[in-house]
Amino acid sequence: MPLTITDALFDGERVGLRCEDGAIAALGPGVAAEAGDEVIDAAGAHLVPPLVNGHTHAAMTLFRGSGGDLPLMPWLEKKIWPIEAKLEAEDVYWGARLACAEMIRSGTTRFWDMYWHPEATARAVTDAGIRAAIGAPLFDATSSFEELRDSALRSLEALAGCGPLVTPALAPHAIYTVSERSLRWIAELSAERELPVQIHLSETEKEVQDCLAEHGERPAHYLDRLGLLGERTVLAHGVWLDREELALIAERGATVVSNPAANMKLAVGAAFDYPAAKTAGVAVGLGTDGAGSNDSLDLLADLKLFALAQKHAAGDPTAIDAAEAWAVATGGRAPRLGATELRPGAPADFLLLRRGSPELGIGDLTSDLVYAAAGASVDTTVVAGRVLMQGGELPELEEIVAKAAERARRLDL
Ligand SMILES: [Zn+2]
Repeated sequence: MPLTITDALFDGERVGLRCEDGAIAALGPGVAAEAGDEVIDAAGAHLVPPLVNGHTHAAMTLFRGSGGDLPLMPWLEKKIWPIEAKLEAEDVYWGARLACAEMIRSGTTRFWDMYWHPEATARAVTDAGIRAAIGAPLFDATSSFEELRDSALRSLEALAGCGPLVTPALAPHAIYTVSERSLRWIAELSAERELPVQIHLSETEKEVQDCLAEHGERPAHYLDRLGLLGERTVLAHGVWLDREELALIAERGATVVSNPAANMKLAVGAAFDYPAAKTAGVAVGLGTDGAGSNDSLDLLADLKLFALAQKHAAGDPTAIDAAEAWAVATGGRAPRLGATELRPGAPADFLLLRRGSPELGIGDLTSDLVYAAAGASVDTTVVAGRVLMQGGELPELEEIVAKAAERARRLDL
């Protein structure tokens, strides 16, 4: 059924927005509902584009609160990897449903995911009604190239035909967990099938030092030599990229996703240098990383951290302004991540903010969104013309929380 939003505030004007077949059919002051439409009276609520979470591990909601305040490698090796070995598809499904619920509530309608049983995440995404690029994490540090290749091909087969909300992707974990041979093969497969590639890169200084010691070059140059630094590549973190690497990444058209909350929680010791990346012309998005290391999927909250980290690291409050930070969080500075523009013909993905919110409505809206708002400021979330949340109420939430908690108990975290 077509959906019409009436009396929304957009760019300082009262407008109507009509959705048909999953796309925005009309947007403007004169747009009204037609007979038979589902109608939401926004009653003056702000209409804004949704957020894009450029890097997460959705089902790690099951690990929330089990981070143990550990450094990255002991946390992965002692805590996470042994538990992940026990994961079943149903665990991932309910963990991902919980993640989707949290993202819908906090205004994210598209995310980039790397996790086990990717077909279970795809099912959760489809059932929840949001969008995601999904890849199975690929490792061969403790297995062979052949095993990695078979697992990659199997995951792509499982993700094929998952419907319009799911984009299959390749997700080699990192340069320190995937061999050179496998990374080259992933580059070839990505080119052949035009698949996006997500990889963690330059998260810690140690990773850079090890890469220099082992390969005689820094991580971005290493990936480039293997053919894996291109327009389809999404690099998570990039904290320790230097200016030459940023210039190379810009030249190749790859995207970097900054995850400030996870970086600060794991104390990686620096902030991704957004002003330098912008000067170099790098496409940049924002991510939460998994709930195991954040522990929230509220990208609006992390947006504030992102902006503050830039100002703090630069010792300059003008290092990034609110409009620029908002553009990063909504995918407007990284075309490959999938931003949604509010215009006729675009996918009908959008948010209505909560009316009468104390943190909104005085001063500049964008500034309020970056520095004062959080996920709870979102009232209504729509994806492909379908209302996923209205009035802050998400159907099925109770069941999802209960089922995810039950699966987490089974894992004995
Ligand atoms: Zn990650």
